[in-house]
Parts: sequence; C-alpha cells; structure tokens
Amino acid sequence: MTTYHIWTVGCQMNKADSERLASGFEQLGLSETDNPRSADVVVLNTCVVRQGSEDKATGLLGALKKAKDLDPSRRIAVMGCMVGPQSDELSRRFPQVDAWARPQEFEPVLQMAGEVVGVDPDGCIRELLPGDPKVATFMPIIHGCDKFCSFCIIPYRRGREVSRPVEELVRETELLVSRGVREVTLLGQNVDSYGHDLEPAHDLADLMYAINEVDGLDRIRFLTSHPSDMSEKIIRAVGELPKVCENINLPFQAGDDEVLDRMRRGYTRDEYLRKIDQVRSIIPDVAMVTDVIVGFSGESEEQFRQTLDILKEVRFDKVHSAAYSVRPGTIAARQHPDTVPVEEKKRRLAELNELQERICSEINTGLAGEEFDVLIDGHSKGKLQGRTRTDKLVYLDNSETLETRIGGFAKVRITGTTPWSLQGTVTAAEMPAAGDRLRVYPI
Ligand code: SF4
Repeated sequence: MTTYHIWTVGCQMNKADSERLASGFEQLGLSETDNPRSADVVVLNTCVVRQGSEDKATGLLGALKKAKDLDPSRRIAVMGCMVGPQSDELSRRFPQVDAWARPQEFEPVLQMAGEVVGVDPDGCIRELLPGDPKVATFMPIIHGCDKFCSFCIIPYRRGREVSRPVEELVRETELLVSRGVREVTLLGQNVDSYGHDLEPAHDLADLMYAINEVDGLDRIRFLTSHPSDMSEKIIRAVGELPKVCENINLPFQAGDDEVLDRMRRGYTRDEYLRKIDQVRSIIPDVAMVTDVIVGFSGESEEQFRQTLDILKEVRFDKVHSAAYSVRPGTIAARQHPDTVPVEEKKRRLAELNELQERICSEINTGLAGEEFDVLIDGHSKGKLQGRTRTDKLVYLDNSETLETRIGGFAKVRITGTTPWSLQGTVTAAEMPAAGDRLRVYPI
C-alpha cells in the first residue's frame, strides 16, 4: 500500500487545507502513516508567519533529503505560505522537493501522488472534503488578504481576497453535516471581508444567516476578524443567530497609535476599544480573543505598556501573543528597522503572558459552579474533552458513567479551573438518536 504523510504547521487555514488534501490522497488510494521518514509521499504544509515555523520546515526537509537519498522513489512536496509565486530559488535550495504548491493549490501535489500510484487525479477525485471529518471542523470561506499590514507576509503568499459563493458553502456544510459534523468554523485571514468580491456582493452576516438554516448543524464559529471590517450587521448576526457562538477573535496587535500606524493596521486604539464596547453591548456574554505582537519596530517601553493597559481594560478570554520577528519581503522589513533587542522582546512577552495568565485565571475561576453545553470533540489523558459555546476547553470527570460520546453534547457543571481549561461533571448527556453515527474511542 502506498503511504502518505502530511506535516502541517501554522494557522487553521493550513489545517483545513491539509484535511482536504488528505481526502484527495485517500481517493487516489493512498493510506496515511504517522512517520514522514517512511512515507512514500510526504507533504510539508508550511507557514512563514514566524521564523520558528519556517526553521522547522527547513529542518524537516534536511531529514527528508537523507531518507530520499536512501530511497529515491520517495516523493516530497512543499505547499503553503513558504511557496511564493516564484519557486525557482526554493528549487535550487531544496532539490529533493518534487512539487511546489502555493496555499490551496492542490493540483500539483495530487498530480505528483497520482504519478506514484499510476492514477490520473482528473476525473477520479470528486470533491476535496474529508470523508470522516472531525465533529467540529474548519471551512475556508475566503482566501487571501487585501490588508497588507506592514509586518505580515500573508498577502504576498496567499494573494488577494477571493470569496467562495454562498450556495457552494451551504452545499458543503450540508455535506459535512451528512458526514457527522455538528460545528463549522468559517475561516478567512480576514473573515469579516467575506463576500465583497462576489456578484452580487454578500457579507459574512448573509453567509451566517444561510448556514444557520442547515438542518443538523448545531454551532457556527468564524475566524479571524479585523476591527475595521467587523460591521454592526455582522455583530448583530452573531447576537441574533442561535447557532453562531458568542466567541470573537478580534486582533488588536498593539496598544499604541504610533505603533498601529507603522503596522498599517488601519485603526486607532480608541477605535478598537469602541468596537469592543459595541460587540459587548450587542452580545453581552461574548468571549473575546485577540492577537498581540510585542517588540515591533521602534516600540518603546511606554508604548508596550499601552498594550498591557488594553489587556487589563478589555480582559480577553484568550490572547495569542508573539514577539515580533522580521519577515523578509514585508513593508516593515523594507521601511522599519527591527530596533528592539531580542532579550527585551522576550522580557516583554513574558510580562504580557504573566498578566494574561492572571486574567484568564480570574475569568475561569468565576465560572466554577456554572453549567454549560459542551460539544465533546476528543479525548486526552484518559478523559473526554469538549468546548463550550465560548470556546472554553472542558475536561469531563465522570464521562464513563453516562451515555457521553465524542460527537455528542453534554451538560457539564464546572468543578475546577485553570487559566487554560475547565474541569467539569457531566449532569446530562444527549442520547444517541436512532441511526446516529457513533464514534467509539477507548478512554
Ligand atoms: S489582516 Fe493583516 S495580519 Fe491579517 S492576514 Fe491580512 S495582512 Fe496579515
């Protein structure tokens, strides 16, 4: 049996792409293996948003070269954000790679795998959708980004924004639901920008109203928002639609206007805070998540403190934080020297993370004793786990005593908390309906 391995780093978009590519491989008759060094076909789905992710990919390519030297019949492909419009330079650096593909460009990789098994992918692959998707799954709705934030390489690698039609996404949701999916996360680099390029134009709210009508679907999420594009109509849709979860990821990146301007984010600190107020006035129980960069070009100690002040003021449920690293090819790499020393960036990051850990701890402690609907989506360390509508990770204490299962809902009373997760006791579990596709996993 010809085997494949897909190695994935980076954002949810990459994870969604890898799931779709895997479906293509399965349709070609390949089977998955955990070991990239022994697979007949290896794909690295890469990310270059941070230097560390790029280093991991180049390190693995070195190891795979040795495996290929031993067995030249192995095939290696690299896809994702490491691959720009021109791959000549990459081909010179990594001659062991047989195929290069930009994000969402599945065809060269499937062609390569098709040659290995002697099957022409044209005509034998139906849709690129996971045959056995996770109960909570990702669905890309808009590709690319038009924003060109000065620190970000994504628009150069993923190209301009292209939205998928509403009807296509509704059909895809129906298909996913027929395969056991109960929650979809609508994905875009800037998901709030969805639909402006469609004819006739639509927006994310229209799409959420349409997907909310899909029978059998229980939850809808969306990622990642941009403060300048999150309209009142979108916020009201989140507040009104029963299936859309009260959970919004709204990156602010920096708390100081001068830094925001150098980042080309397109809003000021006050505009960001007003947007948060608007969201909270329309969706009172919303859980807010954000992304922050510390140590961007020229960021002073005082400017960094402004970022900490926003964390204290807003009290986010979760913060994705990172120290700035220069990405060659970006506007910042050309125009804004990387002036903050690495050690200072690390110190700022540690201080920010410590503050946020305290805030998360206080927020989660306040949830003890409350009861939530949890969609059980996996297991870890001998316990079932799931998510609340606000995307809190919950580990279940007594799941073995009730009809609890992956893919089912349970009512859970919170008995313990940490800054990063909750523990809870199942008080009631959804009974499997006749004909339900049960997923049985050893605990
Ligand atoms: S909105 Fe800015 S940070 Fe986000 S993907 Fe686009 S350019 Fe990058």
